[in-house]
Formats: sequence, C-alpha cells, structure tokens
Amino acid sequence: MADASLTALYQDIILDHYRRPRNKGTLANANVSIPMRNPLCGDEITLELEMDGDLISDVRFTGRGCSISQASTSMMTEMVKGKHASEIGHIGERFRAMVMGDADAATDTVLGKARALAGVARFPARVKCALLAWNALERGLAKSADHEPAKTRDAET
Ligand code: ZN
Repeated sequence: MADASLTALYQDIILDHYRRPRNKGTLANANVSIPMRNPLCGDEITLELEMDGDLISDVRFTGRGCSISQASTSMMTEMVKGKHASEIGHIGERFRAMVMGDADAATDTVLGKARALAGVARFPARVKCALLAWNALERGLAKSADHEPAKTRDAET
C-alpha cells in the first residue's frame, strides 16, 4: 500500500514538471548551449548555461519528448541553478546510480524531488530519457571549462 501511494506521488511530481516545466526557454547571456538527443525515444533538448567561473548562475532549456525526459530536465535545472560545477559532479553521480537501480541513491536527500524518477530503473529503455539532461549538463560543464576566459589578454595582442 505504502508503495502504491508513493508511486502515485512520484507520478504526480513527474507530470507536474512535464506540464509546467521549470526554467524552460532561452538565455540571452548563455556561455554554452548543448543540443542533446535520445534517438531511441525521440527526445531532444537544448540546454543553455550562464556560467560565472564554475558557478551556474542561470540555466534554461528548450526541447520536446516524453514526460520522463522533459520532467527530468526540468528537475535537473532546478537542482543545479546557483551551484558550483564541483558540487554537481556528486549529484549527477547519485542520479545516475539511482536510475541504474541503486536503492541507496534512491533515498539520498541530495537528489530532492528527482527521486521521483527512481522507478525508471525498472524500465531500462527509459534510463536514457532520464539521463539526457544530465549528459547534456556534463558536456556543457566540460565545454565551459575549456572556454574559460583567457586571463592573459595582453599576450594575445
Ligand atoms: Zn524518452
């Protein structure tokens, strides 16, 4: 019984994020823009990050696809906004572990509402949908680190 009501609650959270996605749109001052697709399901998102050093000062996304992919992206943007890249690695790792079926990760409070996606572990075909946003974020942070503003401007002139 407890299991069934928890599942219902989780479904509500997922549907809420699917119908009213948070941080959806584009950023005027994005440093990085990462298009990412999951051809298996037809999901596509473009994630935009506004970085201040290694801090994600703002984040937005556009895209379309299944409820899992879009809700996962919406939840991810809420979780990482205002955080440093160094903190995000751990959260991403825990999320990845959770959707691969790690029971400890599924109760880890660091994942917040994203724990609603724990059930994805029972549907291997949907794991890629849930991870789409996190893969885009990882690529975006790597890209951003590559393009750190040059601190030796003088040397270029
Ligand atoms: Zn999908």
